Amino acid sequence: MIDLTSKTALITGSGRGIGKEIAVKLAAAGANVAISDIDLETAKATAAEIAGAYKIKTIAVAADASKAADVEKMFADTLEAFGGKLDILINNAGITRDGLLMRMKEEDWDLVLNINLKSAFLCCKEATRTMMKARSGKIINIASVVGLMGNAGQVNYSASKAGMIGLTKTLAREFASRSINVNAIAPGFIKTAMTDKLTDAEKEKLASGIPMAKLGEPVDVANAALFLSSALSDYITGQVITVDGGLVM
Ligand code: NAP
Repeated sequence: MIDLTSKTALITGSGRGIGKEIAVKLAAAGANVAISDIDLETAKATAAEIAGAYKIKTIAVAADASKAADVEKMFADTLEAFGGKLDILINNAGITRDGLLMRMKEEDWDLVLNINLKSAFLCCKEATRTMMKARSGKIINIASVVGLMGNAGQVNYSASKAGMIGLTKTLAREFASRSINVNAIAPGFIKTAMTDKLTDAEKEKLASGIPMAKLGEPVDVANAALFLSSALSDYITGQVITVDGGLVM
């Protein structure tokens, strides 16, 4: 069994969806978790729910993960609450603003790149300060299979996720000697609010192209994040784990 007792984790965009499920998994394994979301009420509700279910400490932090000032404050609040210690960072906050290149507005490109990719840059910068001193840490970036294979209608999103994979590999190299592992998870199509936007016909079409013939659940991604957060992954860095029912192989 994976034991994260006394570890502390910060998960961006964890008010709901995959981020929330990751927070639940880490808390169930004994970690104290900082629930960060752009919406304070969502973060508070999730933090209270998790604190009520497990004997661990939670805090709720409101932050737009793409804004440097918000990120700075988010780390300051988290470190204060957890005695200056941060063992695990999960860069999960992400959005889509889909459209074909010809019709995509510059603001949709900027917004997606900022929230999906710049946020990871800002959070890694803050987290590694503390992790360098501790000479240990786990950073997990939630990318996407479309960062590996592209997807028509998602030039902004797939570029942001491909960027996240480049960031992961580079930081893995920069911090390996300090025992800070940096890995990415590339989920396939997972049942959350993000994929709820698709019609049933679109979901069926997607499922028919997946060897396991179904969409994944948030817990499937959370299980991979739990493994990468634990000592079981100590000799793994710079990797991208696909959680996609066999879509990319
Ligand atoms: P989701 O249900 O839409 O959850 C995303 C969370 O991020 C929400 O709680 C949202 O808050 C929060 N958020 C949005 N903008 C933010 C910002 N600027 N700063 C901080 N938090 C912000 O999406 P999800 O499906 O769980 O996705 C989580 C991650 O997995 C994303 O990075 C996504 O790209 C990736 N992913 C998802 C899938 C999939 O099929 N679902 C596949 C591959 C990768 P609000 O709700 O308050 O806006």
